[in-house]
Amino acid sequence: MRIAVLGGDGFCGWPTSLHLSNLGHDVHIVDNLSRRWIDTELGVQSLTPMDSIQERCRIWRQVSGNEIEFHLLDLAKEYQRLKQWLAEMRPDAIIHFAEQRAAPYSMKSDRHKVYTVDNNVNATHNLLTALVETEIDAHLVHLGTMGVYGYSSVGAAIPEGYLDVEITNLEGEKKGLDILYPTKPGSVYHMTKSLDQILFQFYAQNDGLRVTDLHQGIVWGTNTDQTARHEQLINRFDYDGDYGTVLNRFLIQAAIKYPLTVHGTGGQTRAFIHIQDTVRCIELALGDAPEAGDRVKIFNQMTETHRVRDLAEMIARMAGCEIAFLPNPRKEAAENELIVKNDGFMALGLDPIKLETGLLDEIVHVAEKYAHRIDRKHVPCVSAWTKDIAKRVVHDP
Ligand code: NAD
Repeated sequence: MRIAVLGGDGFCGWPTSLHLSNLGHDVHIVDNLSRRWIDTELGVQSLTPMDSIQERCRIWRQVSGNEIEFHLLDLAKEYQRLKQWLAEMRPDAIIHFAEQRAAPYSMKSDRHKVYTVDNNVNATHNLLTALVETEIDAHLVHLGTMGVYGYSSVGAAIPEGYLDVEITNLEGEKKGLDILYPTKPGSVYHMTKSLDQILFQFYAQNDGLRVTDLHQGIVWGTNTDQTARHEQLINRFDYDGDYGTVLNRFLIQAAIKYPLTVHGTGGQTRAFIHIQDTVRCIELALGDAPEAGDRVKIFNQMTETHRVRDLAEMIARMAGCEIAFLPNPRKEAAENELIVKNDGFMALGLDPIKLETGLLDEIVHVAEKYAHRIDRKHVPCVSAWTKDIAKRVVHDP
């Protein structure tokens, strides 16, 4: 297949591009490199030394003999160029990663809120309307998030996107309905992912677009089989307080013997998936495309759930470091349960990598290896969810 990977220079997009290229697909990366600019804005860098995207593609050609083409394009701001590019390339499938993806960054200031909404909603909508206009029947696979469901504990498993409900009509008859699971986003970033869902629903029903939305958990780990083939193919690893996801932050904190910073009681339960399983799930989703006229196909792309303080304890035990409990900069429930259905991918043959088997390897082979690149002042999370909370945020343990 000819596959466009939008956001293919990012943490999930790069290993996905290599994985699909290795399977023999003709892969084209589209990216505006905004993520690299945001590193410059924040004064941080990936823990792992990343080459330019052009250099990464050159090394891949050398290692694998396969070509990946890079196209510099802003999905949110360059609608006409996007349309023209699609009309020329006519991809069979499109993987859409190209959004601003950090909840803390989206809550940093009003400017960051506006940027995140403009970028994410326009990127998704421009893509959808361009597909209709160019009459390209590509299978669109979007990376959404488990965060759209919210983390309220109802004591029931979160289904894969849809909720079966029964309503009573005016004649008093019971009628079955399947509706999108009510969204309860916990940040402006998660809110944009909730809006994406409505855009997909509309274009699937109105124009017969074929869309799969993957509600992904927090991705951990760094390398995949393909990024490990050459030092210069290494994946990015965000460790800073805005972009570093909870587990990756604990790993580097352990590597530099910085107390593991747990927000609040650490009673938040979250869903996780290893980056190698992310790329495998995308392959599986591509092989299971919906038909025109079908509703949006939704998978929960996660493999296990953990409570944040249990994770901290596990890593503190492995690495022999302290835990520091800090006031929570987020507005969220102090404790929550999380039960998630992931039957879709399990039925398609996913065989997940478990946290307890891969964690130590990450600490030793990535976090400790590149520890000299860590700037300790960027480790704490300083973005606060409200102005009141901002007054209570503690930056250092
Ligand atoms: P990332 O920031 O590393 O990568 C996103 C890429 O998209 C970047 O290279 C960026 O430059 C590009 N991009 C952003 N806006 C663009 C635009 N307007 N035009 C063109 N390119 C643009 O993020 P990631 O961690 O790889 O996440 C990829 C997707 O997966 C995101 O949509 C994210 O919401 C979703 N996701 C990620 C995680 C995670 O833990 N990393 C968890 C759940 C969902």
